[in-house]
Formats: sequence, structure tokens, C-alpha cells
Amino acid sequence: MKVKGNYINGEWTGASSGKWRSVINPATGQEICQICDSTKEDVRKAIDAAKRSFYETREWRDLCPRERVDFMLRIADGIAAKKDELAILESRNNGKPLREAENDVTDAVHCFRYYAGIISKPSGEVYRVNKDFGEMHSYTVREPIGVCAQITPWNYPLLMAAWKIAPALAAGNSIVFKPSSNTPLSSVRLFEILDELKLPKGTVNLVLGSGNVAGQEMAENPDVDMISFTGSTPVGQSIAHAAVGNLKRVGLELGGKSPNIIFADADFEGAVEWAMIGIFFNQGEVCSAGSRIIIEKSIKDKFVKRLAERANAITLGDPVKNPDMGPLVSEEHMNTVLEYIEIGKQEGAKCVCGGERYVEGDCADGYFVRPTIFDDCTPDMRIVKEEIFGPVVTVQTFETEEEAVALANDTSYGLAGAVFTADGARGLRIVNEIRAGITWINCYNPTFNEAPWGGYKLSGIGRELGVHGFEEYQEIKQVNINLTPGKLGWYGEGGANR
Ligand code: NAD
Repeated sequence: MKVKGNYINGEWTGASSGKWRSVINPATGQEICQICDSTKEDVRKAIDAAKRSFYETREWRDLCPRERVDFMLRIADGIAAKKDELAILESRNNGKPLREAENDVTDAVHCFRYYAGIISKPSGEVYRVNKDFGEMHSYTVREPIGVCAQITPWNYPLLMAAWKIAPALAAGNSIVFKPSSNTPLSSVRLFEILDELKLPKGTVNLVLGSGNVAGQEMAENPDVDMISFTGSTPVGQSIAHAAVGNLKRVGLELGGKSPNIIFADADFEGAVEWAMIGIFFNQGEVCSAGSRIIIEKSIKDKFVKRLAERANAITLGDPVKNPDMGPLVSEEHMNTVLEYIEIGKQEGAKCVCGGERYVEGDCADGYFVRPTIFDDCTPDMRIVKEEIFGPVVTVQTFETEEEAVALANDTSYGLAGAVFTADGARGLRIVNEIRAGITWINCYNPTFNEAPWGGYKLSGIGRELGVHGFEEYQEIKQVNINLTPGKLGWYGEGGANR
């Protein structure tokens, strides 16, 4: 089956290249369908449509806020009505267990509802300013940025689309959106919902295709006013370079190698369970994954033993049948993860569980990797330094609080981090010291539409979600009104302030 998945100026089209790419079910290695492979020319058409809609027809941008709220709520309802279908599609295309895909759909619905609500909230500020040039009223207004290009990865396809599209639309922008070519199917379904709701033509545009052709054009094109990208750090860096030409606004949500610090006084079984969620949720394909366990030496052996017992009990299988873990997203990505596992073994880390592909029963042709734990890790190892983006966790030990913090911050990334301890003050001291944008105490990975998401250092620029995520899609304009019009008397004889 061939899917003409480009949606440009309110019309579904294929790619001008006439080329197609396979979309694969990672649980079986079988093709699900083929999608169109856009050229730069196709992307330019989508950008032109967004540009016309923002700067010429202006229907979405100028829509009465109350009507914009209604549209956003109808999008949320449209997604909610297709929850089961979307969750199965996502599970099949990405490989995540069905219950996790269902969570994603629910979160996507609430993301649109949250940003519907924000439209009617107060915005802008009034300033007290000096009177050198007369009495002034000085205030700010927030305006949409214009044409926003948005590029997402494959790990949370529908949810990442919601995180980007909902705030951008709420702010009044026009959009060109590109999902990962591995996992485009839920985005196509989302745009079918947008199409049914009849948003003004050109407001939302979808292009399917590769990163280095379609994505690169989105980053370079001078008619794009903002590029918002979620994906790996090297690609994020190349996007920042490409965006320099017209100094477009840039939002980058990038990779991570996040520390999960566990003290001996922590609730033991709780810390084990959260550490599992930290690294095995979504097959470990989570930007904020707790991929570095940093644990107090006195409990390390007991903890690793228990974690390995629990990890060995994880069920793998067809994600739609709801196992604990599904396959990794693609054969290529599975091979990358398996290579890292080999590197870890060669570097001298002790593989205490997993460490291989899983090929039992109906998993034989899928891209499954067993949950893997490396003990006895040291800071110089590549498996400790580099993002693996799979179900692979490293374990290091500390004896003092200072040592724990130093190990946690010994990374070029700064996305997330957590601490487990029964000592509340110590928990706060540690999160104050962690150089990362998202932190947790006594839990790992809960994420909220209301709270800002983003990283320090090589983990990105800017924030998604919450009020901050809305403001990313706005320009701030300063307005000054002279309340004492008339002759200023600045120039000429007797001018003021001489
Ligand atoms: P990726 O960087 O390979 O691809 C992401 C997207 O960028 C895809 O749509 C791809 O087609 C596109 N792309 C690739 N090359 C491009 C180029 N040269 N120009 C423009 N676009 C290009 O990432 P991935 O493998 O899909 O996803 C995994 C990465 O995403 C991990 O590093 C993970 O940490 C990160 N991630 C970060 C967050 C966050 O919120 N910080 C969330 C999810 C994933």
C-alpha cells in the first residue's frame, strides 16, 4: 500500500520525486506500507503555503481567540475519539507496548486541551518607565512568530507532534511539520483529523521524507521564521548551523545521558522499580532515560542483583499484545545498540544481565534487545559517556554526596537527572547541584504538559510544554504610548534639558 502522506495547503499529495520509502513493523521486520519521499521542492511548496496563510490570508492568525480555543478543543476531541486506533498504529509502527502508546495518545489529547486553555489567559506586561520624554504608557504584546518548521524523532511520534503543533497553533502560527521517516503513520492520521476539522488552508502542512533532504530544507529555507527540532545532538547542531542564514528562531530538544543517583537510605524496592522505569520504559528509547545509575557503594551489590532479577523477568513480544517491552524501532538502531553492548564488554564493564538480541518465539524476525545492565563502569567508558538510546544501563558507585554530584555532572549532556533518598534536605541539595533541565526526587520520568521540558548543555536550547513552551512560539513586541502629546521642545532655542 502506498500512502500519499504530504498534506500541503489543505490537499493530500505524493512527492514530486515519485519515490517511496518503506515503513516497517519493527516487531516482524515486515513492511506496513510505503510513504512518499519528499524532495526539497515539495518542502518549499509546503513552506509557501504556510507563508501565504500567515502573511496573506491570515485566517488562523487573525481568528478570534475564542474560536481558536474551540478549534484546539475539537482537535483534542478528534484525537480522543480515535484513541484505540491511534494507539495500535503507534504501537505497530514504533514498537512500544500498547499501554504506553495509549498513554501517549491520552497525553497528546491533554496537550491540545492545555494549550487551548492558555489562549484565553492574560499575557503581556505593563512597565513603569521614566518621564524624560513625557508621560508614557509602556507595555508588551506577544505575537506569533510566523512560519514554524517542526521536525520530530521516532521515539514518541504522536506525542512529539502534539508537543510542537499544539503550542504553535495556539500562538497563531502556521506550520510545516515533518515526522521521522521511520514512524510517520500516527502523524498522517493526526493530519487526517486536522483535515476533517477544516483548519484554514495552509495553516498546517505535513511533509514526509528524509532528514537530510526534507529536514535540511526546513532548517535552511529563509521563509521559515522558526525551526523547532527534537532529535539527536549532532543533527541538532547541524540544524543550528543551517538556521543561521536568516537567524530564524531555533528550539532544540536533544539527547541525554542522565544520572539516576541512589543513596543507601532510599526506599529499596521503590528505587529498583523507578530505576526500571527510568531505563526500560519505551525500550529505553527515551531522551531523559536514567541510563547512568550512580549508587552508594554499600548497597550496590544488593541493588544490582535485584535489578537484574527484575530485568530478567521483563517480557518481550509483539507490542500490540502488551508485553513489558517491545522491539527497538529499526534494524539499524538495534544494530547500533548491540554495537554499544559489544563496546561495553570490550571496555571491561561487567554485563550482569541481557547483553544480546532476543529471538525467542515470535520475536525471531523483530528488532528485540534484552534489558541490559553493565556493572563496574568507570567514567571514561564510552557506554557511560555516549547516548545509547536503548535498554542499556551502566552502574557506577560513590561514597560521598560530593562524589555522587561530580559523577552525575560528568557529562556533556544536561537533560535530566534524579535522586533517591529518604533525606529530604539531601534530595533538594542534590537536585540543586545537577546541571540539567528536568529533575526528579524519589521518582523517574513523570512528565507533565504543564511543566517546562528541555535541557542544559548539549541537550538543547529552549523549552517545550507549559507556559514556557507557548512563549517559544511567540515574539515579544514593546509598545510605548505618549500620554502627553504636543510640543516636546527638544530642539532649538530653549529646548528641554539643556
Ligand atoms: P535524529 O536526529 O536522527 O532524527 C530526528 C529527526 O530529524 C527525524 O525526523 C529526521 O528525519 C530528522 N533529520 C535527520 N537528519 C536531519 C538533517 N540533517 N536536517 C534536518 N532534519 C534531519 O534522531 P532520532 O534517531 O529520530 O531520535 C533519537 C534522538 O532524539 C535521541 O538523541 C534522543 O535523545 C532525542 N530526543 C530528544 C527529546 C527531548 O525532548 N530532548 C525527545 C525525544 C528524543
